[in-house]
Amino acid sequence: MKSLDRSRLDNLLRSEEQKFHDEHPKSYELFKRARQSMQGGVPMLWMIRWAGTFPVFVKEAKGAHFTDIDGHSYIDFCLGDTGAMTGHSPIATISAINEQAAKGITLMLPTEDAVWVGEELQRRFGLKYWQFTLSATDANRFAIRMARHITGRPKIQVFNYCYHGSVDETFITLDVEGTPVSRRGNLGPPVNPVETTKVIEFNDVAGLETALLSRDVAAVLAEPVMTNIGIIHPDPGYHEALRDITRRTGTLLIIDETHTLCTSPGGFTSKYGLNPDFLTCGKSLAGGIPAGVYGFTLEVAEAFWAKLELDQSDVGGIGGTLAGNALSIAAMRATLENVLIPTMYERAEKLADRYETGVLDVIKEFKLPWIVKRLGFRVEYWFRQTPPRNGGEANAAVDSELDRTMHLWALNRGILMTPFHNMALISAEASEADVDTHTKVFREAVLALFG
Ligand code: PMP
Repeated sequence: MKSLDRSRLDNLLRSEEQKFHDEHPKSYELFKRARQSMQGGVPMLWMIRWAGTFPVFVKEAKGAHFTDIDGHSYIDFCLGDTGAMTGHSPIATISAINEQAAKGITLMLPTEDAVWVGEELQRRFGLKYWQFTLSATDANRFAIRMARHITGRPKIQVFNYCYHGSVDETFITLDVEGTPVSRRGNLGPPVNPVETTKVIEFNDVAGLETALLSRDVAAVLAEPVMTNIGIIHPDPGYHEALRDITRRTGTLLIIDETHTLCTSPGGFTSKYGLNPDFLTCGKSLAGGIPAGVYGFTLEVAEAFWAKLELDQSDVGGIGGTLAGNALSIAAMRATLENVLIPTMYERAEKLADRYETGVLDVIKEFKLPWIVKRLGFRVEYWFRQTPPRNGGEANAAVDSELDRTMHLWALNRGILMTPFHNMALISAEASEADVDTHTKVFREAVLALFG
């Protein structure tokens, strides 16, 4: 097994940063200008976390590719962290957007498309009723509000190192002693999340039972496979246990399919027959136009309706003036009807097979203590020898410097990986040659580090 020489890694990161700086003069100039009007020189603060000393400014994107203002072309394996999972600007979505934009964008009234989308979501995911938001974050926030309103219980339960958007209740982790604490970096929490939330490790059935037996948890919020501290699969039988314990304790189950929609057109839920009380999703549903959805069962709808003061529903904490707007809904209809369809999944999965094989071959060739994890057309490599079973184990395996170096090496050679972990989301619009280019570039990075 090879071990990593840290000083070699240090030097490589420094030389890649220099190369990035030298080859992106226009992005750098624009970044300097941007710093005069935007905090940190970026539209959202998390954009300063990209590998490289400033972000690449984009000129245009189409399908699985984009170009920057310095004239470089990239293969995009980030795809807006799933927002552009459809490939950039799919034709069917664009023509629906153009058509709807000319006919009114937001009205505070429904269009016929909304009914089509509600019926389609029902068909795909199996939940009866649907509501629309502009983001997955809001879908989660509103599902949580409904769950608390129905059950009258104060707490939410999440998993260590989960991410579900900027939902206050979820910024909680376990410290090294296993004690729940506010997540590092949690900015201005309204209250300490320890007061609102229970946190346990994923795949811990006994811990789940203990957490829910006190019957003070309104809902468990879970990705069916964790994706945001890397991919962590459920143990065999884990979802059955999760459903059984939530039912027995009167706890509602919210399944967040925002990222796991890469497993099938009906997400992990339809592929593996889960039966959640709520399902939330966002990001890619409208081809990149802001749109989120949350669905729930007939039983949830009836319990909620019975407790709803209809004449106060506009100020009840579930809102969004532009939610369900005609443009987002038209884009969602076109995307669901024409783009996020079985043939797209088949093609993307085949490319993901090729990508996975390419990376595994390099790991074998260099006898690296690394593994590859896979979920639908998401593929990622890990700097450890065994798959982590939970967020705590996964977090302990993070090597930020190695991560950053691998990203920047790829970026400097025309490949954009998903930031903050080594993940590739493979667009059906990519080619086999794109995938092979990644394998070649990945091998060169490994050679530079271990050769
Ligand atoms: N759910 C999951 C599983 C996510 O990964 C994210 C964002 N990465 C969200 C919800 C929130 O999405 P958004 O920021 O678009 O609201």
